[in-house]
Amino acid sequence: MASMASVLRRKLRVQPFLLQLRFFSAESRPQQRIEKILVANRGEIACRIMKTAKRLGIRTVAVYSDADKDSLHVKSADEAVRLGPPPARLSYLNGSSIVDAAIRTGAQAIHPGYGFLSESSGFAKLCEDKGLTFVGPPASAIQDMGDKSASKRIMGAAGVPLVPGYHGSNQDIEFMKLEADKIGYPVLIKPTHGGGGKGMRIVATPKEFADSFLGAQREAAASFGINTILLEKYITQPRHIEVQVFGDKLGNVLHLYERDCSVQRRHQKIIEEAPAPNITHDFRSHLGQAAVSAAKAVGYHSAGTVEFIVDTLSGRFYFMEMNTRLQVEHPVTEMIVGQDLVEWQIRVANGEPLPISQSEVPLSGHAFEARIYAENVPRGFLPATGVLHYYNPVPASSTVRIETGVAQGDTVSMHYDPMIAKLVVWGEDRGAALVKLKDCLSRFQVAGVPTNINFLQKLANHEEFKDGNVETHFIEHHKDDLFVDPNNSVLVKEAHDKAKSVASIVAACLCEKDNYASANFPGSLSIWYSQPPFRVHHNATRTMVFEWDNESGTNSSNLFTISITYQQDGSYLAEVGEVGSAGVEVKPIHLDKHNFTVEVDGVSMQVNLATYVEGGVEHIHVWHGSEHYQFRQKLGLEFSEEDETQQKTNLENASHPPGSIVAPMAGLVVKVLLNNGMKVDQGQPVLVLEAMKMEHVVKSPSSGYIHGLQVGAGQQVSDGSCLFIVKVSYCFFFFGSHYKT
Ligand code: ADP
Repeated sequence: MASMASVLRRKLRVQPFLLQLRFFSAESRPQQRIEKILVANRGEIACRIMKTAKRLGIRTVAVYSDADKDSLHVKSADEAVRLGPPPARLSYLNGSSIVDAAIRTGAQAIHPGYGFLSESSGFAKLCEDKGLTFVGPPASAIQDMGDKSASKRIMGAAGVPLVPGYHGSNQDIEFMKLEADKIGYPVLIKPTHGGGGKGMRIVATPKEFADSFLGAQREAAASFGINTILLEKYITQPRHIEVQVFGDKLGNVLHLYERDCSVQRRHQKIIEEAPAPNITHDFRSHLGQAAVSAAKAVGYHSAGTVEFIVDTLSGRFYFMEMNTRLQVEHPVTEMIVGQDLVEWQIRVANGEPLPISQSEVPLSGHAFEARIYAENVPRGFLPATGVLHYYNPVPASSTVRIETGVAQGDTVSMHYDPMIAKLVVWGEDRGAALVKLKDCLSRFQVAGVPTNINFLQKLANHEEFKDGNVETHFIEHHKDDLFVDPNNSVLVKEAHDKAKSVASIVAACLCEKDNYASANFPGSLSIWYSQPPFRVHHNATRTMVFEWDNESGTNSSNLFTISITYQQDGSYLAEVGEVGSAGVEVKPIHLDKHNFTVEVDGVSMQVNLATYVEGGVEHIHVWHGSEHYQFRQKLGLEFSEEDETQQKTNLENASHPPGSIVAPMAGLVVKVLLNNGMKVDQGQPVLVLEAMKMEHVVKSPSSGYIHGLQVGAGQQVSDGSCLFIVKVSYCFFFFGSHYKT
């Protein structure tokens, strides 16, 4: 039988696709084995899916928006189809265009990745209707799990533990208030449809209930078009632990252990690990069984994740929701079970049984994933945009995976998620994996956009993290350690080391001047070619003022002056003004474009360097050991004592009048709450910006009146552009004339 089937499969492979179309209309075509797959996604996940598809001998089709025309996922595919302009609703969310692209290119299947259309039951149904295999669960399971109330009812009936709460249809406020009183405060109000923590409200006391309830209803209606609400007991010290489940079309379901995703910012995960630390064998198997029951309750097949919230005080776990797709963090599971989940998805979509049974699922070692984002950590983790002038991830190996969708020179745009890469590491045990994570983070080099790499390093180095004491408020609880006060920083405490580091930077930069001679940077622009120049066999001194980032989010920054004297013997004498340590002798040896050995007072060290010029400012990045220093020097000008943000803002908005409020990030204006001439209080929201999955409320910094508000909902704004002005004086408009009091 098996050989018969393979003969048939071989025959089918050589059949031209059009020939098959002659016999079957799209609607009636029976499921075909996947030989060509369209990946309805972008970035790292599209690249990752294509890697497996290629290994399985399956041809790949990419889809792309105009913003992604030259991106890695397009280059990774055998064929690519343009969907439309950059906004997701016109490209990656346009289900019918994607289905058309699959039919046009002869793909038999569509893999949706995560995000975009991956949890759209309508899209899954459309694929089925058009005779395409949707590489994911049945549309009915997506629909059942898309409604948090309905999913909880199904899970409750299947015996899966639920957070005490009310998930019914009676939405009367008085009734809900009685239910909240029954649950006991604090209570969590949650929209039944939606995600990303939007509309959720914690209610501490009964008297706050009505306001929070009405607010949540309004936000849910605005965000999701449905304002139904459910109530839950608010767990004050929770962990987020989720279980990877898998089912096939023959009714087999198993789990592949759990992942701990408790370390989150803005309700989004940043470090995940598998298995979860500090849980017992019994707890693990109860979680696994509950997750399998959950998947069976909805007739699940393909990859899914059952999310649980674990109350660290009582030690109990409760069903939170089921994600009916491949998760961002699936690689940590792959690392500990040694399986390729995308391959499983494709095989299951083909109708094959799961390759192993529950008792055969291995559990080996420990894995971490760190999500490297383009974001501005001091500005509250706001997404950042820009060009990746330098991108040098650590090399991949059997224990290190880099999942990425970008290459050096690419732009991180405001249209999509700002994730640059996922760094995934494996070790024999948690300790070994953590050592590897820290090492890889220290060597992961990005210049051009601000990233969270330094912050991830601080997380990974935290004692409580090392002990596995993670919980969803980890960042908030340890903010004093994670957002280090610059006055307390190691750099300032160890002035001499700083001097050495600075000296090494200077030396490295001097070497780098050779690079400027290349065509990239016209000599006249570079600080190295401004007067007085250094010449061999001439003593020459020049002073430079560098700005050094601090990461506290405060408005101060570290400025210091370096004087460099070129000496006859080819070494340099570096004097660092601000630090009080003078006269460090520096001898640089240029290894290659980015690597140097620098001898500082007879001690040699390895230094990596990347420089680029943007907006008249030279940016200098130096990596030394686990440290990453970032300097800026304005070409031909000295910095004043302002922080970079302020400088940038001033540069861009030299023409903005006083009191101007500028956009803190590039984004789309989704809501404008006040009009010109209206009174505004300090801290009052004025408009809402949205970029890359997150909303940012722009508030008035002072009390006064709104002027010059010209942006409207639906309009794109760039980082640093003027949004409105707050003036203390009152203005009013009368028959088109403008009167000022
Ligand atoms: P969303 O779909 O909007 O992301 P979830 O139900 O997945 O909403 O919850 C998002 C996050 O909110 C969880 O990861 C958890 O940190 C927190 N959370 C959810 N439910 C509770 C609860 N009952 N008590 C405390 N925290 C909760």
